Amino acid sequence: MKIAILSRDSTLYSSVRLVEAATARGHDVSVLDPTHCYMNITSMKPSIHYQGENLLGYDAVIPRIGASITFYGTAVLRQFEVMNTFVLNNSAAISRSRDKLASSQLLARKGIDLPITAFAHNPDNIEDLIDEVGGAPLVIKLVEGSQGVGVVLAETHNAAHSVIQAFMGLNANIMVQEFIKEAEGSDIRCFVLGDKVVAAMKRQGREGEFRSNLHRGGTATQVRLSPQERAAAVQAAKIMGLSVCGVDMLRSNRGPLVMEVNSSPGLEGIEKVCGKDIASLMIEFIEKNINKVSCGL
Ligand code: ADP
Repeated sequence: MKIAILSRDSTLYSSVRLVEAATARGHDVSVLDPTHCYMNITSMKPSIHYQGENLLGYDAVIPRIGASITFYGTAVLRQFEVMNTFVLNNSAAISRSRDKLASSQLLARKGIDLPITAFAHNPDNIEDLIDEVGGAPLVIKLVEGSQGVGVVLAETHNAAHSVIQAFMGLNANIMVQEFIKEAEGSDIRCFVLGDKVVAAMKRQGREGEFRSNLHRGGTATQVRLSPQERAAAVQAAKIMGLSVCGVDMLRSNRGPLVMEVNSSPGLEGIEKVCGKDIASLMIEFIEKNINKVSCGL
């Protein structure tokens, strides 16, 4: 097969591993920076160009589109879909997953358990907003944040009030969420491929830190999931329409609570922690599913 990896950086661990795995399985693979692709979108002769070359004959695309280039990256991916190329995650599902509000609303509507969460932009009654999620302690998040930046634990009612007021001053969209204390500064990353969780790790924040992000000094270990956790991860992926994703959840007293579904989950942490060749599993998945329709249009 001729496979394209859409990624801005061919030196990233995930890109390198996918190239290695595809090559080892006998495929012709290249990494294309989506921001450098340009397209003819007319119905007669849709095409994608890259460095002066007309990209032809690709059988499959593995999108690894960073959040900062979602708009253009998904447009390039959509163009591959127009040209009937198999895509590992489709453009519509990726776009949906990048909208935290829409994703949470969709997951909740379909019965996935989430932490009690409120969204706000400019609440005219902060007290009511705080009451809505059960009062302090609570977690306040900037909707646009990532890697734990803009995620604040407000331990008291007054702190919550001040933080919400401060974020309002920034004209930001915020999430106000019940604090899952019993997670004890950890969360679970489930790596879903198709209808299976192929690996899972528990990330633990460093001492005194409630955020478990590895970028913030957290550590990760392989974890055994309960059947309920496994089912929740697979169901969340299915609802989002993603063949490959990282489902992040908190272990709460009332069972797993899904926080986020990531459509471009990194391979480095999960492969190293779980000692699994996930890149090859992804290539195998493409081999098995190449004839199935994957269009997000
Ligand atoms: P980001 O997407 O920026 O990583 P998250 O929403 O995943 O932000 O939050 C970062 C970390 O903070 C999570 O991985 C988790 O460890 C912790 N966390 C987030 N929300 C809650 C919550 N409601 N209760 C307890 N811990 C939380």
